[in-house]
Amino acid sequence: MIPEGSYVTTMLDGTIKQINPLTGTEVWSVPGRGAKPAPNVEQPLAKRLEPRPDSVPEDYCNFCESRYWATPAEKARLIWDGRSSRVLHRLLPREVRQTVALFRRIPNLFEIVTVDYWKKNYAYQLSSENRAWRDRYLADPDGRAHVMSIIETKLHHLGRTPEEVARIPEPEKLEMADAFFGGCHELIIARRHFKPGAQFDSELVSSGELCPVEHEAYFRFTVDAVEGIYASNPYVRYVAVFQNWLAPSGATFDHLHKQLVGLDGWGSHLRAEIETLRRRPNLYNEAVVNLAKYSSRMIAENDHAVAFADIGHQYPTIAIFSKSRHLRPSEHKPEELRGVSDLAHACHAAAGSGISCNEEWYSAPRDSIDRVPWHIYLKWRINTPAGFEGGTRIYINPMTPFELRDRMVPRLYELRLLGKIRNIRIAEECSIEPNVLQFYRA
Ligand SMILES: [Zn+2]
Repeated sequence: MIPEGSYVTTMLDGTIKQINPLTGTEVWSVPGRGAKPAPNVEQPLAKRLEPRPDSVPEDYCNFCESRYWATPAEKARLIWDGRSSRVLHRLLPREVRQTVALFRRIPNLFEIVTVDYWKKNYAYQLSSENRAWRDRYLADPDGRAHVMSIIETKLHHLGRTPEEVARIPEPEKLEMADAFFGGCHELIIARRHFKPGAQFDSELVSSGELCPVEHEAYFRFTVDAVEGIYASNPYVRYVAVFQNWLAPSGATFDHLHKQLVGLDGWGSHLRAEIETLRRRPNLYNEAVVNLAKYSSRMIAENDHAVAFADIGHQYPTIAIFSKSRHLRPSEHKPEELRGVSDLAHACHAAAGSGISCNEEWYSAPRDSIDRVPWHIYLKWRINTPAGFEGGTRIYINPMTPFELRDRMVPRLYELRLLGKIRNIRIAEECSIEPNVLQFYRA
């Protein structure tokens, strides 16, 4: 076991050596090295957008409102009537234009873990509910045409010529449609691509550009989708949730979306954490949050969550931990989920929409009895690896945790003053009380 004092070492030249308490990853922040981000500034390369009235649905990418038919059939949508939100499930094509979707839940056209994987390795079959949904959609003439056109697009992207696509018998094509009705790789897509009235293509709607209420709805809708994947596939042991923002983070479109991937394992990161937890039951307090408090890395806190500049990551990373004793996001009470969402939203808003960022969720897998609190990492993708990581397993992060904290804190004060973020205590307003995470209480 590594003593807490050894996780962070400041060398005489200012190099900060860090070891991630959960995974053992070794990282150095070397002063004066590498790129520094420039958040919240007008980007010099931004291009002017064609003016368009707000009433015209956007069509900048395949996730935009006017291109619903470029993506597979929607599994659910969240609508907003001005006072409260409601979720509609499994609409038919003719119903899609009757409401405006604030967020949509759709299958990913190119699955990481395919429906074929589940069928061939686990004898997976579509649930009766999903079979009924597929049959109803295909029985609708517009629905069938939509499905066939998406399958043809997919085959085209996979390198088949139009002649080859035409020769594939219809039953074989329809078999591929199971990915759209019972696949376990899904997207949650926000409504807007650009901010209303945007003049430049840098004015994207990021997580931080949503209002806190919308962000909370986005989180809740995502949590429901995780449960939907567990419910439809009994072989899924864990659902990975992540958000890639802008191209350096791996995003295909600059249009806000989260991804959910059902997995038959926990992934190496979570497994490493859980192995450490089994040796050290108060791990997440002792080695993570207490240490962040004692070493002045706190960024923000509210009654239900904490956010701090984390150590031992390849990229500058803000960690957000739920304080709740309820482990999985779906087990959180509404106010607890709101607390976690509010801090994540505030941290995105303070970073600004110009910073490429991965948001990664971690929580107790379905088949785990380990007491893992829900935690989220926001990783700023501002650096490229230094090149020697492969040989040394030492990663170079261009920003120290303290620089990251100092970049966030003044911006959070500003945003709170502007009323753009809510439910937040910032930096020195955070408590220094130890053991604020309640995950260990069964
Ligand atoms: Zn778009």
